[in-house]
Amino acid sequence: MPQQARLIHDRIAGQIRAQGAVTLADFMRLALGAREIGYYTSRDPLGVAGDFTTAPEISQMFGEMIGLWCVDTWQRLGSPPQVHLVELGPGRGTLMADALRAAKLAPDFLAAIQLHLVEISAPLRAAQAQRLQAFGPHWHDGFESVPPGPLLVIANEFFDALPIHQFQLTEAGWRERGVMLDPTDPTRFTWVLLPPGPQFALLPPMHRDAKPGDIVEISPASLRLAALIGQRCQTETGAALIIDYGVAASGFGDTFQALRQHRYHDPLTDVGDADLTAHVDLAALCRAGAAAGSRTFGPVPQGEFLCALGIDMRAQMLIQGQPATIASELTGGLHRLIDTDQMGNLFKVVAISSPSVTELAGFA
Ligand code: SAH
Repeated sequence: MPQQARLIHDRIAGQIRAQGAVTLADFMRLALGAREIGYYTSRDPLGVAGDFTTAPEISQMFGEMIGLWCVDTWQRLGSPPQVHLVELGPGRGTLMADALRAAKLAPDFLAAIQLHLVEISAPLRAAQAQRLQAFGPHWHDGFESVPPGPLLVIANEFFDALPIHQFQLTEAGWRERGVMLDPTDPTRFTWVLLPPGPQFALLPPMHRDAKPGDIVEISPASLRLAALIGQRCQTETGAALIIDYGVAASGFGDTFQALRQHRYHDPLTDVGDADLTAHVDLAALCRAGAAAGSRTFGPVPQGEFLCALGIDMRAQMLIQGQPATIASELTGGLHRLIDTDQMGNLFKVVAISSPSVTELAGFA
């Protein structure tokens, strides 16, 4: 076990010894985000040598399409002369670098933007600085500190890393799923059922249709953030584009999972050394944004969204005149992003915007 993972294990185990079992949300928050020793805060997890890969790391076309979406959306917002361009969880800065390169065709847009990166990982902030220094980015620990004013927000595979609570219907009623130390081997973590906590009140009405054994997930951190974005879009000019793997409609089921070296892994072992995620309930994010007074678009499948933005044409342009190896790499990337048996359907896209915006590119 790497030294950092041992520290995370000891940190969570210490908390359980002191206070008893932790909720899944606390477990995720510590494992992923504990200062300096969490999974994200201690490393760059992306790429072949890491644990998982993401759309912008697969093809430059992903970020380019989002760059064009930003330019188009900025124009629909009335081309404000100053706009905060905010990315939540920018990873290596690849998406934003590709987006800003594509946005060069709109110099007025580039002149208007102030770049804000919301990132908790020091190693990833360093990677972002390398790629994006020319744009003078401002870093934030959270979205709350982005200054007032018109804004565009981008989030790709960000919400899936935010903590979730899981509730399970048992014969004895609802219980919250938590994590404790295994009584037979206290060096290991195991699942436990707790009485449902106050977050239970946030469950959507569909939980009333549950049968014993069913699990319902909720991410109050995600809902709070979507509501905050919705409020900002309602009181100021703005729009947000959220892309994540997940469900278009709220439902039952356990989607908590770990990825380590590109393979599924038991989420309670090698804690701090594997990526922990849950599917994102994009419909719930839209409801939270709409309840805060903004307009919402989607969910639409990622493949449909990218095709509506013209990713096919972009691929044709890039391929022209390239040797066969590069052409097949580009075509391969395109298919991974849009095909329904790859990322095209599993990933969904939603937007939250000022109510004055009636149409957004990519949302038919
Ligand atoms: N958007 C990038 C990276 C996705 S990985 C891409 O598509 O490649 C998740 C990103 O969110 C990482 O940059 C991670 O460090 C960051 N992150 C995770 N939890 C966070 C939190 N609570 N606050 C801010 N950033 C977070």
